[in-house]
Amino acid sequence: MNLKNGPRTRYPRWDDWKWQFANRITNAEALSKVLPLTDCEKADIGECLKSFRMAITPYYASLIDTTDPNDPIRRQCVPSIEETHPCANDLQDPLGELKDSPVPHVVHRYPDRALFLVTLRCSMYCRHCTRRRVVGEEDRSISEKALGTAIAYIRKHEEIRDVLVSGGDPLVMSTEKLERIISSIRSIPHVDIVRIGTRVPVVLPMRITNELLQMLKKYQPIWINTHFNHPRELTEDAAAACTKIVDAGIPLGNQSVLLKGINDDAETMKRLLLGLVHMRVRPYYLYQCDLSCGIGHFRTTVEKGIEIMHELTGNISGYAVPKYVIDAPGGGGKIPINYEYVLSRNDKEVVMENYKGEEYKYPQPV
Ligand SMILES: *Cc1c(COP(=O)(O)O)cnc(C)c1O
Ligand code: SF4
Repeated sequence: MNLKNGPRTRYPRWDDWKWQFANRITNAEALSKVLPLTDCEKADIGECLKSFRMAITPYYASLIDTTDPNDPIRRQCVPSIEETHPCANDLQDPLGELKDSPVPHVVHRYPDRALFLVTLRCSMYCRHCTRRRVVGEEDRSISEKALGTAIAYIRKHEEIRDVLVSGGDPLVMSTEKLERIISSIRSIPHVDIVRIGTRVPVVLPMRITNELLQMLKKYQPIWINTHFNHPRELTEDAAAACTKIVDAGIPLGNQSVLLKGINDDAETMKRLLLGLVHMRVRPYYLYQCDLSCGIGHFRTTVEKGIEIMHELTGNISGYAVPKYVIDAPGGGGKIPINYEYVLSRNDKEVVMENYKGEEYKYPQPV
């Protein structure tokens, strides 16, 4: 594959998501055609692929700056030998999802919402993936039988009013298969909103077709959350995909992961967040990198995360500021981590600091 100078004109089916999917780069040899690699780097990639597969869409690969070994796009998709280095505190099931899974494919941790993992496939395998232990292992999506069991669970639990369809990436499934899943969820009277978690707008924006949106629109209210991590991902193609989603009346949110050397500085984060708001994508969560095995080199300190949040808050539109959370190891769920603006508090007054570090007092009601 040749991705230099306008691959879109070279490959007539560039804008066809099935072509992009079929032509993913999945081994070191193919990668070396688009990104110069030494023999040692090729061997390292081969070693990494023993524990977590690689797949890079031609579109996402075309965004790599091939001259920069630390390019933020490259680091998210090209394996690094550091993935094979064991790291203190690594966990097999970092979010403790197994213990909160009453039936296969469903994680029911919070009172009113459930996570429904409908596939283990993705269009790209992100090197920092939380679910790298299981994602990419099998190439099939949920069987009809398992779908039935999961739907029966949700139907039985009337407290579930929000179902988060995730994976893997649900939008790599065919529209027909996805419709079967979404319409089954929609047929449950107590389910109010259906959410889809997908990285397709970032790594395979051509998947956002009119056909897909026409289907989704039948099952409103639908919300979509995507996963942009770096301002360089905010391309014209990505913007067009996001515009289509939002114009279809589907609110679009974004969850980023704080990644060392990729987006762990306030300036990069600001460009990302303001760029998202410009595209009408609402920043939702900023995740502290979890304890999955093989991603230790992506972890940055919580202090750094708090410092970035502090620099954002008050300095840019509130709309652009996500919630910074740690998904607590062992299954505690998402816990918001904040800069401490309250200096002291008693029954008389609250002493606090504003975004500039100036002190203010609020007298408590008598
Ligand atoms: C993140 C998550 C949700 C959704 O949480 P929100 O805070 O509502 O976005 C639901 N279930 C599980 C298991 C989750 O990890
Ligand atoms: S798209 Fe999501 S589930 Fe798939 S590899 Fe990336 S982070 Fe993991």
